[in-house]
Amino acid sequence: MRKTELQINLSNLEHNITLIQSYTKSSIQAVVKANMYGLDIPNLIEILEPHVESFAVITTEEAAEVRKYTSLPILLLQGVHEASDYFLIEELGLDFVFHSDWQIESLKEHSLPESRAWLKIDTGMNRLGFEHERLSEIFDLISNSVFKEVVLMSHLASSSDIDNNQNSDQIKLFSEITKNYSNKKSLANSGAIFNYPESHFDIVRSGIALYGGKYIEKGIKPITRLRTQIIAIKKIRKGERVGYDGSWQASQDTLIAAISIGYGDGFPYIHKPFLVSINGEKYNTVGKINMDLITIDINHSDNIKVGDWVELWGFDTDLTELSSNLNSISYQLLTNLSRRVTKNYLE
Ligand SMILES: *Cc1c(COP(=O)(O)O)cnc(C)c1O
Repeated sequence: MRKTELQINLSNLEHNITLIQSYTKSSIQAVVKANMYGLDIPNLIEILEPHVESFAVITTEEAAEVRKYTSLPILLLQGVHEASDYFLIEELGLDFVFHSDWQIESLKEHSLPESRAWLKIDTGMNRLGFEHERLSEIFDLISNSVFKEVVLMSHLASSSDIDNNQNSDQIKLFSEITKNYSNKKSLANSGAIFNYPESHFDIVRSGIALYGGKYIEKGIKPITRLRTQIIAIKKIRKGERVGYDGSWQASQDTLIAAISIGYGDGFPYIHKPFLVSINGEKYNTVGKINMDLITIDINHSDNIKVGDWVELWGFDTDLTELSSNLNSISYQLLTNLSRRVTKNYLE
């Protein structure tokens, strides 16, 4: 069996949700979209469940999968994608977002007494949500429908950047337009949980921080390690080229190790060297990332053997920093990992 694996440290996940709780008095919604940011659902849900008030996903297929493991509320963050999704909402007992008039119109005669409707208001991101001036009008539009509760929500465009004034503008606007409503309110994602306590309101929505992709400096622990074993070692001479298009050329005699992982596993396709770790030492990759292989210049390290572990990232890696070297972001490093990468869960 190929040894390429993503290890997922469940105690670090538990640490992260507990840390997030220590940063807020609000209830927490665990955002588990995109197959839990690529980490797979079943093992993680049961750890988060005692700490959260709900889960959030994008598609009804994701919601149906999550529903197998929890009876807590599950929010469709983009609401229905077509009118018939309201039947699934009823069947699975889902919460859903209203961001557009067509979603309210297609609700028609549905009554959803088990569901919370989340009204998404655009406070300046200009992506999704009703213009904030229309809030009371929207309440009128949905006044004939039956819901368990209506929650008011918006989303911050720059919460990871504490120097960005857009955050305080959005928080101020959201506070103002919702102040005469006694409904529950939700604005903060991971970044805002750490950076903007005044944005927490009733429910905070946390994604990337749970999965250790950001906010290491706030005490978050990475929960993943991506590693594989060396499958071949080759001697090459000064001047010889390695890999597709011969894009890398040896400046001296050296040893090249090959590992079985590539963009077919969801690893970013890049052309520049980056550091991997073998037996605690750092070595540079060479040439282009292939679909199924990456090559590493191990110099004259005679102690490195076929079968040695190579860490692409570890439990001590700041994925935000690594991802910028890989022309990516930590979210994408995780969500891109393909099904071909074996996932192993550590207690
Ligand atoms: C994905 C998402 C979140 C979670 O964001 P993180 O930065 O991963 O914490 C919160 N709210 C909405 C609407 C989202 O789409």
